[in-house]
Amino acid sequence: MNKFNISNKRLVSHIAKSFEISLGDIKKIIKNFHSEMLKGLSGHKSSLAMIPSFVDMPKGNETGKYIALDLGGTNFRILEVELKAGGRIDVIAEDKFKLEKEIVTGTGRQMFDFIAESIKYFLHVHKMSLSGEIDLGFTFSFPLNQTSIAGGILLFWNKGFSASNVIGKDVVALLNAALKRQGIDNIKIAALVNDTVGTLIAKAYGDSYCDLGVIFGTGTNACYPEKISKIKKARGLKTSTGYMVINTEWGNFNKLNCTSCDTKIDKASSNPGRQRLEKMVSGMYLGEIARTIIIDLVERKILFNGNIPSVFSKPYGFDTKYLSEIESDNSKNLMIVKNLLIRLGIANAGYTDSRLIRNISKIVVMRSAYISAAVMAAVILWMDPKIKRIHTIAIDGSLFEKCLSYQGHIKSVFQKFFKDKADKINFVLAKDGSGKGAAIIAAVASRL
Ligand code: ADP
Ligand code: MG
Repeated sequence: MNKFNISNKRLVSHIAKSFEISLGDIKKIIKNFHSEMLKGLSGHKSSLAMIPSFVDMPKGNETGKYIALDLGGTNFRILEVELKAGGRIDVIAEDKFKLEKEIVTGTGRQMFDFIAESIKYFLHVHKMSLSGEIDLGFTFSFPLNQTSIAGGILLFWNKGFSASNVIGKDVVALLNAALKRQGIDNIKIAALVNDTVGTLIAKAYGDSYCDLGVIFGTGTNACYPEKISKIKKARGLKTSTGYMVINTEWGNFNKLNCTSCDTKIDKASSNPGRQRLEKMVSGMYLGEIARTIIIDLVERKILFNGNIPSVFSKPYGFDTKYLSEIESDNSKNLMIVKNLLIRLGIANAGYTDSRLIRNISKIVVMRSAYISAAVMAAVILWMDPKIKRIHTIAIDGSLFEKCLSYQGHIKSVFQKFFKDKADKINFVLAKDGSGKGAAIIAAVASRL
């Protein structure tokens, strides 16, 4: 039997403690975040790249039909979108394509050929013309050195991508070349967009209070409109409003207290030392954090009688979607946890094991949400230190959407931190904003 003794209990509460984020920690995170933002904007060495996007906030009166591509992680989407002014957007057609591991870790040429073939398929299935110019917004959610509204050089890969011969290249040129190889020559890539920027713009198209776009999906990132005069590292930037959207690339923020588990995951990853916040927060990693804790407890014979179930034996084998299902179980008999464990091939989990797995899941999700709330608060305070205005935060990504406790955690941090001003800060799910936003940005860009 798997009886908990005192030292086991102490070990588990030690793990819980090491994952805790206090109000003091949040204040420290915000302070450090601001100093990294400032350095990033000034062109000094910083874990926040603070990349100018060449995108201005939308007016809401843009119209027309556009294609959007959304490439950034688990799936690749193509949309045909109609902008109807007054902030209204209709998705006319949408197809999703799964990005197999072989595609994203093979050659860059193969990957872009796959994308171009998918576009050809989309045009064919939805009976779109192969003549007459079609403007396309390309959401490409990896760290880019954006050189213009429709040009950007990949700095490095993350989220498990490693396609060769792409780093250091202009991804718009690579997609253009692949489209040519498919015989498509009526598509004009009008805008290259990060998914956070797309999400912000899609929501801001109909909501003028929206000034923060955030992703909690495979990875995590955020963007906000910045005064051009504050973007000291870039000269000669110009927009009609004097603001430009800054892609913070906050997934790389590295001033956080890490546990030994975080260090382990970072060291074993394809990008050690990078994306430290992302590795503690985003969907790609939460299951892996829980798995790492679980393995440690199995090896100490605290869990599963010391036998590692196969679902926990492979790196990244325990998906965050299971984690969030498990952590949602607040029932006394833990039926959700037990049923899920059975589905995952663990038939004989007892109550103690199930409860421990559930508690680990809660700890991991809660820390992610608390760090997320802290960095969102940091950007809001950067824009509006006394919270004089109303702010809408547009958030996209399956972690935020599907993990049931996530929004509650964020809300509780905002309430504790902002007190009576918390109700000035609203956060909303901006589903698939990354694609729709790319279409709006393509519309603005093609008008110019
Ligand atoms: P992308 O970031 O690639 O655009 P998504 O926003 O769908 O895609 O995010 C995918 C990530 O969300 C994956 O890491 C996955 O583990 C996680 N995820 C999927 N379903 C859930 C869920 N029910 N709860 C928590 N996380 C989930
Ligand atoms: Mg996405």
